[in-house]
Amino acid sequence: MNLPLSVDRLWDDLMAMAHIGATPEGGCNRPALSALDAEARALLARWGQAIGLTLTVDRLGNMALRREGRDSARPPVLVGSHLDTQPSGGKFDGPYGVLAGLEILRALHEAGTVTDAPIVLVNWTSEEGCRFSPSMIGAAGAMGVLPEPEVLDRCAIDDGERYGDALARTGWAGAADPAWLRNAAAYFEAHIEQGPVLEAEGFDLGIVTGGFATERALVTVTGETSHAGTTPMEMRRDAVLGAAEMIMAGERILQDRAPEGRMTVCRLIVDPGADGVVPGGARFAFEYRHPDNAMLRTLLDDADAAFARIASRRKLDVAREPYWSFPRVVFDATLAARLRAAATRHGAKHRDILSGAGHDAYHAASRMPAVMLFIPCHGGISHHPTESISREWAEIGLRVLAEAVIETANAPA
Ligand SMILES: [Zn+2]
Repeated sequence: MNLPLSVDRLWDDLMAMAHIGATPEGGCNRPALSALDAEARALLARWGQAIGLTLTVDRLGNMALRREGRDSARPPVLVGSHLDTQPSGGKFDGPYGVLAGLEILRALHEAGTVTDAPIVLVNWTSEEGCRFSPSMIGAAGAMGVLPEPEVLDRCAIDDGERYGDALARTGWAGAADPAWLRNAAAYFEAHIEQGPVLEAEGFDLGIVTGGFATERALVTVTGETSHAGTTPMEMRRDAVLGAAEMIMAGERILQDRAPEGRMTVCRLIVDPGADGVVPGGARFAFEYRHPDNAMLRTLLDDADAAFARIASRRKLDVAREPYWSFPRVVFDATLAARLRAAATRHGAKHRDILSGAGHDAYHAASRMPAVMLFIPCHGGISHHPTESISREWAEIGLRVLAEAVIETANAPA
């Protein structure tokens, strides 16, 4: 395939996009449905419309830029990712997948090549979850994983703004039924790995065959608040000491049973959190991730048993309430094989890999064949201003993605 794909143009687009919400540290702060996110969306829409793509925005703000195929009745091939970033975000997490998709459509436009099925470039609303929890909420709404009204009523963590109101304020509340994106032939998402494996092992690309099962819960430990000077140790019901012991037990359970999994305490809140006071309350966000659904369950059962034992010994109460979870995701084998074959043709050193992070593709995979392609990022650093990739990685990812997307759009219906 001889498409006029240009890594220079892709790179210029990435830098222009990174300018919107650029931070002094060299990163990007472009929260979902902020004024900056709206500016980024407008730029993408302009770029897409300049090459004749048709923009559709759904009621959850998901953007779709469509290039017609020879058979416009065929379900389209979707390619995309997200433009929103973490407050401490970099230039590539999200935009790489969106803008690589755009570059494919530009090259097709320049070459005057028409695919059999239409190709639709997607920018999902609010992937990061730092304003509207949970992560990937726009894709979840579109794929029916969360009901539309529930997404629209979600309130921002930072300023309490309702998702639906933020859409209206920024001018990105569309008219299309979010369910329309479900009727697609395939979904492709290119993304930076956000981990250190590919670079450390000398690979150019990762063919993502699936993702870890994940469960995150808020653990609430309740004891009794008392005076730090006058309460003897044996008479205390110190929630923080209980929480500390539970957290260490959670790590030990993973190490003993399934060291290839992941355990993280992302947040820790002390109540009342005052000097001179034995804390009567502690809450922590506790998560396990594991490639196997049954093992994830076992880890959580072990943790629940350990937490209960620790609480009882320390005369505390404990409750673990899950609020974010998804099962092990398995991506489509045919689409993965197309990426693998394209990588081999291009002499790219590639390996199969599982994603430890959540991505919009997980929700797409619940409705259609879906797959992801990872390019390495330096030092595995992501969600950080110094997040970086090489032009070589950007280019090989672009070329391999383009071939697999176009092959899928030209495959017999
Ligand atoms: Zn991302």
